[in-house]
Amino acid sequence: NGSNGTSSVRPRWVRVNAVRTTLEKCLSTAFADYTRVTSLLDLKGTGKLIYIDENIPNLIAIPPRIDLSKNPAYLKGEIIIQDKASCFPAYLLNPQPEDGHVIDACAAPGNKTTHVAAIVSSLTSASEAKVTACERDKTRALTLKKMAKLAGAEKIVDIRAGQDFTRLDPNAEQFADVGALLLDPSCSGSGIVGRDDMPTLHLPSVDAGPQPVAGKKRKRKGNAAEKKVEEKEEVVEEEVTEETPESAEVENDEKKLAARLANLAAFQLKIILHAFKFPAATKVTYSTCSIHAEENENVVVKALASDIAKERGWRILPRKQQVEGMRKWQRRGNAEACTGASAPEVVAEACIKCEKGTEEGTMGFFVAAFVRDREAGEDKQ
Ligand code: SAM
Repeated sequence: NGSNGTSSVRPRWVRVNAVRTTLEKCLSTAFADYTRVTSLLDLKGTGKLIYIDENIPNLIAIPPRIDLSKNPAYLKGEIIIQDKASCFPAYLLNPQPEDGHVIDACAAPGNKTTHVAAIVSSLTSASEAKVTACERDKTRALTLKKMAKLAGAEKIVDIRAGQDFTRLDPNAEQFADVGALLLDPSCSGSGIVGRDDMPTLHLPSVDAGPQPVAGKKRKRKGNAAEKKVEEKEEVVEEEVTEETPESAEVENDEKKLAARLANLAAFQLKIILHAFKFPAATKVTYSTCSIHAEENENVVVKALASDIAKERGWRILPRKQQVEGMRKWQRRGNAEACTGASAPEVVAEACIKCEKGTEEGTMGFFVAAFVRDREAGEDKQ
């Protein structure tokens, strides 16, 4: 369970769903009989204990031995089991009313979609808040739909089931007001530590639909070239369901791993470059649950060096300009992995990392934000 010493901790992270309730209400109802602790390590104690997170608003942690599956707040979608790291992208994106419409490009099962929906609806009226959620896999989109409904976000989120984000037309009139995009594409899943990180398994009273089975490919239509890439990605999605996503066999075969990471990185870069094309966009977050620099810092550096980034003025959001809880987070990117960037130290410092098996109690994760000026955002190129 990720424990490499007495200081490692693996709590159960719980996000209070601000669409349905507030942290204060939850503390006085669902968690009324819990004792507050001020350190994650204290959750190793006995009894009902609760820790209120210092980085992410509306996030709490409880001891992993406590089962919430029959808790009424959980069954009503008032609380959502979600790893702390997985809450970083929507919080870092920090969508504001002036950012208009938000796109979640790779949305299922919907943890980040419902989180971003909660953020935008808390800032504007729920009727004005608008999130478009693309999910290429129709089966996974069913889970997304159920999760959005359970979270009370079905009127905020427009689900595009079966929609490949890279085929969404950035210049379509309906996307003219898209100011922010959250990108959480398929990855190697090498940061995943256990089934708690598989959110499809944490939907109360909804059928998550058939779960991908490792080694068994699902069929999908498409032309031959597209199919080839998709199949590779599908294998990845299947592998993230495993407790140890990288089998010993793959780890022993460095060439195979390098090829797999290169394939994933090319797909991840494609997603980012497509997001950069939305005419009014000024904010993008890119995240993975991978520990590999090839999918993380290296992709960020390539995105910054792209022609579209230069043409449209996309740059990294430096640490000092990040929302407070992310600015305070100490674990940052690796400058060596940012070689090639014009300011590797700044880019590395802007990259936010989580490591499994640490005192922070998260899964392995990576997130970075890109921004550009609003004036540039209004300039439809
Ligand atoms: N953001 C999700 C959450 O927090 O619950 C997890 C997203 S998962 C890492 C990546 C998802 O992207 C998968 O469901 C996959 O089917 C979907 N996907 C992959 N390629 C896509 C594409 N080109 N367009 C839209 N969705 C895609």
